[in-house]
Amino acid sequence: MNRKIIIGGAWPYANSSLHLGHLAALLPGDILARYHRLYGDDVIYISGSDCHGTPITERAKKEKVSPNIIAEKYHKEFLEVFNKSLFSYNLYTKTLDDFHKNIVKDLFKRIYDNGYITEKIDEDNYCKFCNKFVADRELILICPNCGNETKGDQCDCGYIPTKEDLKNATCNECGNKTTTKENKNLYLRLDKLQLLIEEYVSNNLHKWRKNSQNESLKYLKLGLKERAVTRNLDWGIDIPIKGFEDKKMYVWIDAVFGYLTASMKYCNENNLNFEDWWKNKYSKIYMVHGKDNIIFHSLIFPGLLIGLKDNYHLPDVMVSTEYLNFNDKKFSKSKGIGLTVKEALEKFNVDTLRFYLIKNGPETKDSNFTEDEYKSVHNEIANKLGNFVNRTLNYKGLNSIPAGILDKEVEDYIKNKYIEISNCIENIEFKKATILIMELLDFVNKYYDEKKPWVEFKENIKKFNDIIYTCTVAIANISILIEPFMPNVSNKIKEYLKIDNNKWEFIYNINPIDLENIQPLFEKM
Ligand SMILES: [Zn+2]
Ligand SMILES: [Zn+2]
Repeated sequence: MNRKIIIGGAWPYANSSLHLGHLAALLPGDILARYHRLYGDDVIYISGSDCHGTPITERAKKEKVSPNIIAEKYHKEFLEVFNKSLFSYNLYTKTLDDFHKNIVKDLFKRIYDNGYITEKIDEDNYCKFCNKFVADRELILICPNCGNETKGDQCDCGYIPTKEDLKNATCNECGNKTTTKENKNLYLRLDKLQLLIEEYVSNNLHKWRKNSQNESLKYLKLGLKERAVTRNLDWGIDIPIKGFEDKKMYVWIDAVFGYLTASMKYCNENNLNFEDWWKNKYSKIYMVHGKDNIIFHSLIFPGLLIGLKDNYHLPDVMVSTEYLNFNDKKFSKSKGIGLTVKEALEKFNVDTLRFYLIKNGPETKDSNFTEDEYKSVHNEIANKLGNFVNRTLNYKGLNSIPAGILDKEVEDYIKNKYIEISNCIENIEFKKATILIMELLDFVNKYYDEKKPWVEFKENIKKFNDIIYTCTVAIANISILIEPFMPNVSNKIKEYLKIDNNKWEFIYNINPIDLENIQPLFEKM
């Protein structure tokens, strides 16, 4: 039976353009989706734009438009950018979607009915100059963890300020010190869920990236605190509980529920059964995100699923990347540091950019993007893959691929690569997989050089035919093995070789092909 796979890519905030760091964090999702589909698994790969919350209303205020206009503008841009980056989402939706809003209200109500969302009157930050409750994100304070100035929701160092920390914060709108005032809100009782979350974490921890393990254990050790799920704001999803008509849902709860609503929507539209994925103990669920998003996926989302008491399959694998820097500096829009994905795709080749962002990317530690390094990876692939394909399929005087005998050594080597690369991807070691691909390219080029087809062409035409046939079979298999990383080039080769059996398994047979239209795969930079 095919495995049922869910891949949830983190939902980007629709308040500014995506930069290369976002791409580096989300790309593993597409590698997994493409690999699992080739492998024959039933994949649902979903994500969407996170359209609520203060980042959007702040931006809207600045540009003097409605939050809706900002959210729709960036949602449209994200769709375009993900398409151009060759992301193969089954569904990329948005939290503005009515389907999403209605299901989220229902899920929220169920957790409330189960007693994991409860009411509490608390002292909240209030600005008497602006005459309003001030959300965490709209507060400014000095981070007690790193000493830098930060917003109240989360510091760049990863620290999430406590209620106590926020007591001394100032209002970002008027700059005055805030006071506190009684406010009635609903809270997710992570404290009540702690034991169940701990049990979940200890069962799954070994499958997670190191940063997810460390971060999650750190928060569990501190003891999970109840977390507000309602807030005083006009922009967001309504609260389906009496007495909270003047509040909206906190954006994080609305956004993580997106994994369920998007899966449901996709299943409804394609006559699939949602429960085959989300309530099946044999399914596999990957969560793909950057390190600033870890606990929302590793603790809070599983906590919500447990709180639903409805037999949900909890996420299995946390694919959390570290940060990508740009020329040794943090990406920063305000300081003009970095490249947006849109800008990068205008300058660079999408396939080699994807390959580079995995090979040199922030898989287990922060990494650095430089244009020179990118170009050197691009040229290496152009040399090793582009030239190999060119000198085999564009062999002077050849009109068709001759019949020949496949070299056993090449066959065994490539078969082994199928297993090795598969293991790497399933173990979320994508960087290692790109190294294996480079090894494979070195191997086939060395085979070509040592067999000297240009000599055999004159001396022993049977040997020549065997070499060209073997190299063509190698190219066919390379097109499969590189597909998760470089889908465009993979497709180009598949078109040339008329490959119709698109599966993660060794290709033996070469269809009759016309060699006249073979174009170079890459331009050098
Ligand atoms: Zn800090
Ligand atoms: Zn104020």
